[in-house]
Amino acid sequence: MLVSAKDMLVKAKAGHYGIGHFNINNLEWTKAILLTAQENNSPAILGVSEGAGKYMCGFKTVADMVKAMVDSLEITVPIALHLDHGSYDGAKACIAAGFSSVMFDGSSLPIDENIEKTKELVDICHSKGISIEAEVGAIGGEEDGVVGMGECADPDECKKIADLGVDMLAAGIGNIHGVYPENWQGLNFEVLDAIQQQTGDMPLVLHGGTGIPEDMVKKAIDLGVSKINVNTECQLVFAAATREYIEAGKDRQGKGFDPRKLLLPGTEAIKVKVKEKMELFGSIDKA
Ligand SMILES: [Zn+2]
Repeated sequence: MLVSAKDMLVKAKAGHYGIGHFNINNLEWTKAILLTAQENNSPAILGVSEGAGKYMCGFKTVADMVKAMVDSLEITVPIALHLDHGSYDGAKACIAAGFSSVMFDGSSLPIDENIEKTKELVDICHSKGISIEAEVGAIGGEEDGVVGMGECADPDECKKIADLGVDMLAAGIGNIHGVYPENWQGLNFEVLDAIQQQTGDMPLVLHGGTGIPEDMVKKAIDLGVSKINVNTECQLVFAAATREYIEAGKDRQGKGFDPRKLLLPGTEAIKVKVKEKMELFGSIDKA
């Protein structure tokens, strides 16, 4: 069922496990994640960037597709449909389109403007039972053309934003989007611990989950991270499985060119990756 992300994250924080946020790009992606969540009795968050929303013909198309799929696949585990790195206007559009959760990323704004816009969106979201994520301290790497520097968030600023009543808080702790460079310094657990001490029960969000070593992910969950964003990793396994299918010449055998066959190995690869993440985060059987 489609729900706000609030309850699943509060439970995860209390139970010291994490919930996977998996970005979706099309029908196959969505189906793979929903089925894997159901098969493993795990809650899950479907993330949609503004770019992916445009690609899928708008947020309403996405919301209607996800709702219909949850219904027709008889998905009973909690699923949140969440805007990833939303602008102020994007967040409002997703609220109108029927998303159950949004992220307002005001991290590039001056802190006072970030606070003002976050506060306004918190009130709108909560009047409609929608959960909201805010961000402090830009998260590095590139996402939809926005490049950050991988800075660490200021714990005092985190407290200011957390106190606005957001349901989850993304804070930079040295994590970046995309594939990590070889000279990456790792997560800054001192900063994470300081943020956690300032923000108490607030579920924290770890962006850029691809390529962070498993022991670091587990330690981050121990220190208060309840939502882990996974995007690039699913793209990589989808591409690799599709490449393997074509390089083996399977698209030229019989009706192997049928898109329902051509896209199947990639879809199955996403399912395997999502299950692996649910095991790592500890969300299996927590629905
Ligand atoms: Zn992110």
